[in-house]
Amino acid sequence: MLITTLGTSHGSHTMTRNNSATLIETDGVGYLVDCGEPVAASYRRAGKDFGALRALFVTHLHADHVGGLAQLTNMLKHGRGEEQTVTYCLPSEGIERIRAYLEALYIAPELRPLTLELCGVDEGPCYEDERLTVAALPTGHLETAGRQYAERGLPNRGQAFSYIMQLEGRRIAFSGDQPRDFRYLGRLLADPLDLLVMEMTHIRPDEILPWLGEQPVRKLLLTHIWDPWHGPGEDRLREMCFEHLPFPFTIARDGMEIEF
Ligand SMILES: [Zn+2]
Ligand SMILES: [Zn+2]
Repeated sequence: MLITTLGTSHGSHTMTRNNSATLIETDGVGYLVDCGEPVAASYRRAGKDFGALRALFVTHLHADHVGGLAQLTNMLKHGRGEEQTVTYCLPSEGIERIRAYLEALYIAPELRPLTLELCGVDEGPCYEDERLTVAALPTGHLETAGRQYAERGLPNRGQAFSYIMQLEGRRIAFSGDQPRDFRYLGRLLADPLDLLVMEMTHIRPDEILPWLGEQPVRKLLLTHIWDPWHGPGEDRLREMCFEHLPFPFTIARDGMEIEF
C-alpha cells in the first residue's frame, strides 16, 4: 500500500504544512483519514484520482480535521459518476449538521452524481468493504469541550476517535488527537500494530517516545506535527526518536509518499 501524507500540521497551517489529511491507497482504491484544508487541492496536486476515493474517516469535528470536507465533496464530480460509491464516516454527534452544511452549499449528498453515504461513527466497528475493516476507539481529546458545549445546550458530545484498520493483512492505527496522558493510547496499543500513525501536537515527545518505544509497534509515522518540530526543529525530534524507538519511524511532511 502507499500512504501519502497530504497535510501534516496541527490546528493552524504553517508555511510548509497544511491541516491533517492522510491518504491510503491499495489495489487502485483510496481511503482518506481526516480532510483538513486544503485537502482537495493537495489530493489533486499529488496526482490522485477522485474516482478512486472509496471512503473518508474523520477522527473528530475540529476544523483542522474536517475543514476541507465541502470542497472535497464538490471535487468528487471529477470521479467515476454513478458507478462510484463514497462513504464518509463522521462522529455521529455532528452528522445531521454536516449534512445540512453540505445541502446549504448546493452539494447535498443525495444530489451528487455518485452514491455518497454519510455514516455516524460511535465506538466500535464502523466500516467494512472487501479490502478494509475499520473500528473506532474514543480518545478523550474533546471531553472538556464536549461538556462546555453541552452546558450551553448545543448537541456536541465531545466525540473524538482513533481508528484501527485491517488492510492487506496488516493492522494499522491512526491515533487521532490525544490528551497528554496515555490512557486512551494504552487501549489503542493493547494488540500489536504493524503501523501507528501518531499525532505529535497534544503530547510531548520526551514523555510519549520512551513509552511508545516499549509498545508492540512495528513502525511509527509521526504527523499532526507541532510548531517546535517544523523546519530546523525536525532534527531535534528525529534525535529523540532515534534515542527512544527500537523500531523504524518517519516524520511526515506534506506530500510525502511512503510505501508500506
Ligand atoms: Zn488537530
Ligand atoms: Zn483536535
